[in-house]
Amino acid sequence: MIIPPGAMLGLLGGGQLGRMFTMAAQSLGYRVTVLDPVENGPAGSIAERHLRADYLDSAALHEIGATCAAITTEFENVPAESLRILAQHCVVSPASSSVSIAQNRILEKNFLSANGFQVAPYAIIEDSRDSQNSHTEWFRLPPGLFPGILKVSRLGYDGKGQVRVDEPTQLDRAFSGMNREPCVLEQLLPLANEVSVVVARGFDGTAITFPVSENQHRKGILDVSIVPARVSPSIVQNAREAALRVAETLEYHGVLCVEFFVLGDGQLLVNEIAPRPHNSGHYSIDTCVTSQFEQQVRVLCGLPLGGTSMHGAAVMVNLLGDLWQGGEPEWEHVLRHPHVKLHLYGKLAARPGRKMGHYTVLGETTEAALQLALEIKRSLECAHSSAFEPGPCLQDAYRTKTDE
Ligand code: ADP
Ligand code: MG
Repeated sequence: MIIPPGAMLGLLGGGQLGRMFTMAAQSLGYRVTVLDPVENGPAGSIAERHLRADYLDSAALHEIGATCAAITTEFENVPAESLRILAQHCVVSPASSSVSIAQNRILEKNFLSANGFQVAPYAIIEDSRDSQNSHTEWFRLPPGLFPGILKVSRLGYDGKGQVRVDEPTQLDRAFSGMNREPCVLEQLLPLANEVSVVVARGFDGTAITFPVSENQHRKGILDVSIVPARVSPSIVQNAREAALRVAETLEYHGVLCVEFFVLGDGQLLVNEIAPRPHNSGHYSIDTCVTSQFEQQVRVLCGLPLGGTSMHGAAVMVNLLGDLWQGGEPEWEHVLRHPHVKLHLYGKLAARPGRKMGHYTVLGETTEAALQLALEIKRSLECAHSSAFEPGPCLQDAYRTKTDE
């Protein structure tokens, strides 16, 4: 079914991903209603309509379902139940069945490994009904899982809800630190690299992948994405194929991101999947024929998918709230470069670690774009040098978290 321009589209969630979806929808002539409990959020403040209510509020769900032709979401922690209810009234993408897997690390890992995708060695950590027994069982975990990372199964993001666990004796304390919510314990791997692939898959099963992005994280938060990824052609091909297979196996309709770990021998492991456009795909706004957000609109409205080829290389750098410590950053450092695009999300309060915006450097080569991206980053950070520590390596990042 094709939903023609002019129709009202519904969006659950009101953050920056929703803002960029709303902009893409509006530029194709659609209108957007945002359901978001927060006032003045990035998406709600630019959409035609903002329903300010909880995602499970039945009156609000009824209203958005009755007034929108199709509904999507911009964050994986939207209650899957809300998507299920809405699907009885209108087109919904992605389906609640896909979102419920992606928003729960235990279901996600089990789904991936049951379907033949390689993942990091893991164990499920939860209090058994007979909770007295649980830790004796944990002491029988394979020693290979240590040092590991304990990740809470639900509601973690940007490295939150994760803690490093060096040995089995630390596990119980770390688990208590997660309020004994179900968790996944994952082996801490020596990563050669991290890459991700955004896939768009329509209701008719046609699917397309975006170029592979190479991602560098700082303190568990995406810092820089480099596209095309500086990995071998076989890794690129394997990542694109695996991402497509994940989407097919999930019978996914919408935009999905698959994050991978790359090991020293080139082996690819699926880290996690996000049932929505992804931070590592923001480069597509400025460098691809069709952005990941336009693709989300196209799938939702039953339009043909757009091309994903790139006009050139790109490097995306996230702008976190830390940069605002001394007031508004000096955007002159970014804007004076003709091939750099600045995106700010309109968030009213800057907090450390909060994603406030990003910039994308376009270049003929990845190296040229990366060099300029890092120069700009240094100029911005120098202005607020006290806010920044020297770039921590992953191990240090986890040490900091455990210490907190
Ligand atoms: P989030 O939901 O916060 O993105 P991730 O599981 O993707 O959680 O972890 C965030 C980052 O932490 C990863 O991109 C990676 O840099 C690092 N990380 C997570 N798990 C591991 C692991 N098992 N081994 C090494 N690094 C990891
Ligand atoms: Mg991640």
